[in-house]
Amino acid sequence: MSNGPWTVEAPVFRRVGVPMEMEEVTVVPPRAGEVAVRLVASGVCHSCLHSIDGSLEGTPLPIILGDEGAGVVVEVGEGVTMVEPGDHAVISWAPSCGQCRECLGGRPARCTRKPTFGVFSDGETRFRRGDEQIFHYGPATHSPYVILPQSAAIKIDKSVPLDRAALVGCSLSTGAGAVFNTAGVTAGQSVAVVGCGGVGLNAVHAAYVAGAFPVIAVDPVEIKLDAARRLGASGTVSSSGEQMAEAIRSASGGGVDVVIVAVGSTVAIEQGMLALNPGGKCVVIGAPPTGAMLSIDPHSLRAKETTLMGCSYGSCNPPVDFPRLIGLFQSGRFKIDEMVSRRYALDEINEAYENLAAGKDLRGLIVFDGAEA
Ligand SMILES: [Zn+2]
Ligand SMILES: [Zn+2]
Repeated sequence: MSNGPWTVEAPVFRRVGVPMEMEEVTVVPPRAGEVAVRLVASGVCHSCLHSIDGSLEGTPLPIILGDEGAGVVVEVGEGVTMVEPGDHAVISWAPSCGQCRECLGGRPARCTRKPTFGVFSDGETRFRRGDEQIFHYGPATHSPYVILPQSAAIKIDKSVPLDRAALVGCSLSTGAGAVFNTAGVTAGQSVAVVGCGGVGLNAVHAAYVAGAFPVIAVDPVEIKLDAARRLGASGTVSSSGEQMAEAIRSASGGGVDVVIVAVGSTVAIEQGMLALNPGGKCVVIGAPPTGAMLSIDPHSLRAKETTLMGCSYGSCNPPVDFPRLIGLFQSGRFKIDEMVSRRYALDEINEAYENLAAGKDLRGLIVFDGAEA
């Protein structure tokens, strides 16, 4: 197993509207407290699409995208104790400092000392092209090799197929975590999930696994509703816009206890609030465009005692929750295979994002060349 630096061919995103090209990039060796991981598979996530289409402002460029993946640890820096070379790891996109009030309280998704977008906590990147620094979209899992703080490499059992485990790093932990952790859905509660992409389908499935009924999947795209039915949705709604709340109320027999909004739309959040039963919770996962504002009726909020909640990374504590979610998968209680609609080679990355934007994929998965799953 060779040590760094590594020279790789990685897709670099340089400008909105310009397709990524495969470029030769140097990955510098891990520093103290860091690990190097060789990727086996990486999911294609809507969060990165927000940078590609320009709806998320402030993406530092040039950048290597990718917030979901799994692979094999190949080298560790000084002082690393959580993994060693040869270990299999799911990559978390939210490294945590381990020392702030939120981390110490077991809520690392809320860490208050996260590094600035694009760089490590020392202000530098670990990707170079000549003298040029290439930024990281979180863990930058579309690079064949990545450097991570050790808190972002979660060791898993080697019996878990890494191409399935990759999804645990973002879509699965976010969607399932929104249901299990953020909303705390209990058996018999009614749930609607708005937006049935990678994250939303995992939320639908988690609601089913938690014993919720009915579970209403909401999406305008029929193949996504079909997938949602296979993953446990008891009813579906294809309305969007201002008709959504009424359609959810009608499909659920009056309203739901929990709405999970897994799409970046303010209308979806507002409609989600309107679809709630008294005492219900509306959980916001999706990211509307930068600068968007909500309009909520405070009288209804007060009278119905409803809750509008944010959800970052499924409120997950990765070292605790990732093995738990993988345990559910390995025992046959949580489906992952059904989430992946297509596998791509790394140099097909632009097509993968085009298909995601066009609603043609549930979860697209990049499988790295020569990688053994
Ligand atoms: Zn993601
Ligand atoms: Zn922290």
